[in-house]
Amino acid sequence: TATIIDGKAHALALRTRVAAHVATFREATGRAPGLAVVLVGEDPASAVYVRNKGKATRDAGMASFEHRLPADTDAGTLLALVAQLNADPAVDGILVQLPLPAHIDAEAVLLAIDPDKDVDGFHPVNAGRLAIGAEGFVPCTPLGCLMLLKDIHPNLSGMEAVVVGRSNIVGKPMAQLLLQQSCTVTIVHSRTRDVAAHLRRADIVVAAVGIPRFIQGDWIKPGASVIDVGINRTDDGLVGDVDFAAASAVAGAITPVPGGVGPMTIACLIRNTYVSACRRDGIEAAL
Ligand code: NAD
Repeated sequence: TATIIDGKAHALALRTRVAAHVATFREATGRAPGLAVVLVGEDPASAVYVRNKGKATRDAGMASFEHRLPADTDAGTLLALVAQLNADPAVDGILVQLPLPAHIDAEAVLLAIDPDKDVDGFHPVNAGRLAIGAEGFVPCTPLGCLMLLKDIHPNLSGMEAVVVGRSNIVGKPMAQLLLQQSCTVTIVHSRTRDVAAHLRRADIVVAAVGIPRFIQGDWIKPGASVIDVGINRTDDGLVGDVDFAAASAVAGAITPVPGGVGPMTIACLIRNTYVSACRRDGIEAAL
């Protein structure tokens, strides 16, 4: 049966490493790296994410600037706040929590963030940098997935990787990262004719679909490494996009839900913020 990948332990180790580097950064520069998080409205899940991000930021010895705006905030007010954060030298990272209320054009807001402070990696400039292999910011969830994979397979070169899902936040950047690692990458999605046939060839599976237990155990190649990004609320609690019980009998390694990819996302956000501070101050990042 599969090795269970302990995302919580990996995330804690990364956060501890970042905190140590942040301490060195503070000594060298006399300032703390800063992350600004903007929340518009009262979506309960978003509120929890924002609270956890603030806590993780402070735990790492960084400054957390939290901006909570009412749900009826107009686009102009939000864009003015983003402009102010872009100009603020104490802010190294800016994150606007999604989803935004429907009356605000989320794409315009993401475009307004300075790409060099875009620690979420959602700005089109950073998507482009990732595509051409230039230095930028990589979205936190796929970056966390890659870190978990590299821990199992330090050399991914030549492996067959199948990414399930093609979202801008997870699937597409994940495919880019795996390509950069010299995997042979296939992206399957809602219009793919035979998802199972593609998966059966995969040494590496990354599932980002949003359908509970979508990926069946008999779609997994024996010994494959399975990274389950899905977070689905069901009557029996949080479940992933992979049928964990069945897949873990076949796979070589697999992430659980919860406790797999989820904790890595925030750890990578902390990492990206530290890296941003180093770049802005012309210091070599220690990660
Ligand atoms: P999304 O809805 O934007 O994209 C889902 C993708 O799945 C689409 O590209 C679609 O083509 C594909 N898809 C849908 N039905 C399919 C089918 N039948 N066969 C093959 N592909 C199919 O979702 P997302 O934002 O990429 O998120 C995916 C999942 O990951 C969700 O459960 C989400 O909650 C979770 N998520 C977790 C984290 C984290 O762990 N921190 C971060 C982001 C998203």
